[in-house]
Amino acid sequence: MAAKEPRVRRDEVRDIAEPRGSVEIDQEECKGCGLCVESCPPKCLELLPELNPYGIHPAHYTGEKCTGCGICFYCCPEPGAITVFRVPPARVATQEVPSAATL
Ligand code: SF4
Ligand code: SF4
Repeated sequence: MAAKEPRVRRDEVRDIAEPRGSVEIDQEECKGCGLCVESCPPKCLELLPELNPYGIHPAHYTGEKCTGCGICFYCCPEPGAITVFRVPPARVATQEVPSAATL
């Protein structure tokens, strides 16, 4: 009888997956409400311990695990504070490309 493949939990898949997005937060526009931090599914946003020139703790991207879902963008009450970028997946060849002679 063949040995069973080890099962991978959904959160483990998330941990080993390549980041699919990235976020830039304008520290001058952010009002430190924390809505983006609370709403981010993979919890990759945080409020900085340092104060910005307006005396608030701005949000900050930790630099890992962003999926590019855009939830933080839609939650943010400050237009222009958050910009979400989608990272295109790396293309992996799954089958041989036919040559011109076989087309
Ligand atoms: S785009 Fe999604 S995963 Fe990325 S920081 Fe925003 S809420 Fe989190
Ligand atoms: S939701 Fe917008 S204003 Fe609030 S902490 Fe996040 S980036 Fe700043």
